[in-house]
Amino acid sequence: MDKLAEFAVTEKNSRGRRLAEPAPQGRGEFQRDRDRIIHSGAFRRLEYKTQVFVNHEGDLFRTRLTHSIEVSQIARSIARRLRLNEDLAEAISLAHDLGHTPFGHAGQDALNACMKSFGGFEHNLQSLRVVDVLEERYARFDGLNLCFETREGILKHCSAENAAALGDVGERFLRNQRPSLEAQIANVADEIAYNNHDVDDGLRSGLITLDQLSEVPLVAVHLQQIRGQYPALSERRIVHETIRHMINTLVGDVIRSSEDNIRKHRITSLAEVRAAPPILAFSEEMFGQQRALKNFLRTHLYRHYKVMRMSSKAQRIISELFAVFMEDSRLLPPQFQAHADADRARAVADYIAGMTDRYAIREHRRIFAVEEVPLSF
Ligand code: MG
Repeated sequence: MDKLAEFAVTEKNSRGRRLAEPAPQGRGEFQRDRDRIIHSGAFRRLEYKTQVFVNHEGDLFRTRLTHSIEVSQIARSIARRLRLNEDLAEAISLAHDLGHTPFGHAGQDALNACMKSFGGFEHNLQSLRVVDVLEERYARFDGLNLCFETREGILKHCSAENAAALGDVGERFLRNQRPSLEAQIANVADEIAYNNHDVDDGLRSGLITLDQLSEVPLVAVHLQQIRGQYPALSERRIVHETIRHMINTLVGDVIRSSEDNIRKHRITSLAEVRAAPPILAFSEEMFGQQRALKNFLRTHLYRHYKVMRMSSKAQRIISELFAVFMEDSRLLPPQFQAHADADRARAVADYIAGMTDRYAIREHRRIFAVEEVPLSF
């Protein structure tokens, strides 16, 4: 790796792990974080959790696992170009969605509503909870004992109340400080990844069309160019070429604009990154274009009646599961029953949040179905 920029996170300026451990052999500390994340149970479950489409709706749609891999690819490209810590950007990207409920945002909203009088449910906080508490893999500690900078990057948003309770990783929210540039990269990469793959999945599902999408300037400019250059190209290749060009354009823009911000704010250290306004950002023009694409997706895809029907079903599944476990914690698997004695609502939320889409559907059927359900189910 080329020499890192003076404002990158390094093992030297890292605040380290909560519990000190011997230095890793043959890999760096942030590579070790990435490896721990990949080997976690929560990471494997991402394969069967969805973003927009429910897992059984088709084999080609993104899941949270493929989404996280795409985020990490984009984040690493940006980190490398800015001479930042690629391993850290990768670790944060791979972990950023670990706390997501089944059924995407509909699931998160439903669980948050159920948890309203019990401290709420927020997927960023839950991702941190997964790596800090819920993974049970080590003899000496709960969670994965990740480095401070990885944990800080996972906690993208946080209320002042939660920040105060979180200690070290919550501090920046109370002091109005920014996280590392590597964390800022993972955040922007997340946005680039989902906007583009939702266009792809939306087209594949037939819920949106290329014609509709040509109202969006960011799409139209590339679409026109590709159609002009390859008049006989199949629609499938046109879509992929357009998305490829869009990702490249967004990544190029964020790199240029962030380099400008680094110069403008004379950033020369990690401490200055934390004190400055957000550095990793699109140019003003691209920010507007990206927002127009987001608005398009919200109106035409996320609020499409077919997506809304699935969301409504998902909300019902989650709130009914929550209610039944709250009423009788003896229905919970034993490891969650143990925690339910201390805080029933949180134990139920942890159990539900950890479910994959199909596990939640099956669990709902196991508990509520009146007709005969096979025992192996
Ligand atoms: Mg994400």
